[in-house]
Amino acid sequence: MPADNNARMPKVKLCIKEDKGKVALTDFDLPDPGPGQALISTNLTTICGSDIHMIDHIEEVPAGTPMGHEAVGVIEAVGEGVERFKAGDRVVSACVLSCGHCDRCSEGEFSVCSAFAAPMNLLFGAQADAYMVNGAEYSMARIPDGMDDRHALFASDIMSTGFAALERAGVEKGQTVAIFAQGPVGLCATAGAKYYGAETIIAVESIPERVEMAKQLGATHVVDPKGDVVSEIQALSGGSGVDIAVEALGRQETIENCFRVVRMNGTVSSVGVYAENEYIKVPTDGTFIHRKFVTTLCPAGTERLDYLLGLIDSGKVDLTPLFTHTMPLSDIVSAYDMFRNHEDGVLKIAIS
Ligand SMILES: [Zn+2]
Ligand SMILES: [Zn+2]
Repeated sequence: MPADNNARMPKVKLCIKEDKGKVALTDFDLPDPGPGQALISTNLTTICGSDIHMIDHIEEVPAGTPMGHEAVGVIEAVGEGVERFKAGDRVVSACVLSCGHCDRCSEGEFSVCSAFAAPMNLLFGAQADAYMVNGAEYSMARIPDGMDDRHALFASDIMSTGFAALERAGVEKGQTVAIFAQGPVGLCATAGAKYYGAETIIAVESIPERVEMAKQLGATHVVDPKGDVVSEIQALSGGSGVDIAVEALGRQETIENCFRVVRMNGTVSSVGVYAENEYIKVPTDGTFIHRKFVTTLCPAGTERLDYLLGLIDSGKVDLTPLFTHTMPLSDIVSAYDMFRNHEDGVLKIAIS
């Protein structure tokens, strides 16, 4: 490797968890990339629901933690052993990191790589002028020429998670799917249900902007969660229940309702983050027997990123309407407040 990695960006602006419920923008000295690492100059980043959980609810995330795991940028320098990428490549990084060689990675399950123990299997620090990717060789993908950063960014996390909610449930063409909550991940699940050919796609949502977006991305029906959700979904599925119920909120009530609306031998697919629940309960009445229950981390690895970028590149999936706002990194503290409080119909904020 060339030994010219020095002093490209000695100081960067970086968003950190300052304290419970608070983020701050600080100056940070980024080191040169070490073995297996890549230093990326950030083109575009964003805030995710799990950032809010880490700031507001998950006490184990200490003050000072660098925030941000969804980003697109240009490689400034790579460390020893990184050969598949070089300085100047425009890349999207996966929010879950992979070594490429452990037993799980060898099975193709890159998101459960055993070389990076949690939480170090997650990308941290992408809400910055520049960020470092560990396991760079298997945790990034080159973005096709001509693809806008705004398209590519979705491959890093929420598109992968949302689509995987359907994939892990074994979705088939013509099926009936209910998706509980149309936040950013739920909306990606709706887009995924459409892409994989579900015929009836029932979005459970009441916020008007999200209802509209759900319809735009493929929902054929919308059910208001304040009504009798279970009866309405049962009616829409002809009384037998849906083939797949996706939980994309992370609440007791919604996981319970997923079991109540899924047909016998159907699948409840959970991608919600239950940050406020130590346990979740599921009903043990007739709606529990002979159902399948799957959960999914964000599928990762270069092949996964390439697959998702391919779908985007084909023009069949466009998630860019989710970017409702654009803000500079210098405004990230207010961006967090806006995102946390769901102000102004915000879904995703493009931060550059
Ligand atoms: Zn995320
Ligand atoms: Zn691994």
